[in-house]
Amino acid sequence: MVYFGLYNSIDFNEYDEKKRKILACSIKGLRSGGDGVNDFTFNKSPLRASESKCSSGLHKILVVFTYKEIQPARYESYLIGVFDNESLNQ
Ligand SMILES: [Zn+2]
Repeated sequence: MVYFGLYNSIDFNEYDEKKRKILACSIKGLRSGGDGVNDFTFNKSPLRASESKCSSGLHKILVVFTYKEIQPARYESYLIGVFDNESLNQ
């Protein structure tokens, strides 16, 4: 099991650049409106990245999700993918 949430996540566009490039190739629908690496969105929603470990503590996990305010104080979040963070480091 993997837990993730907004409070231990960061702006995807501030996440490790090398990993962002790898993820951009493997996530269908990930779009960059700018210079190719610093302006990623998904369905026009901002992206967040959350590093954690699985509940057994054995695996390093990266969760990518969208987080968008759709009305004041109402948010929409969409899970994009759960990745093996160890393999992204190689
Ligand atoms: Zn595990």
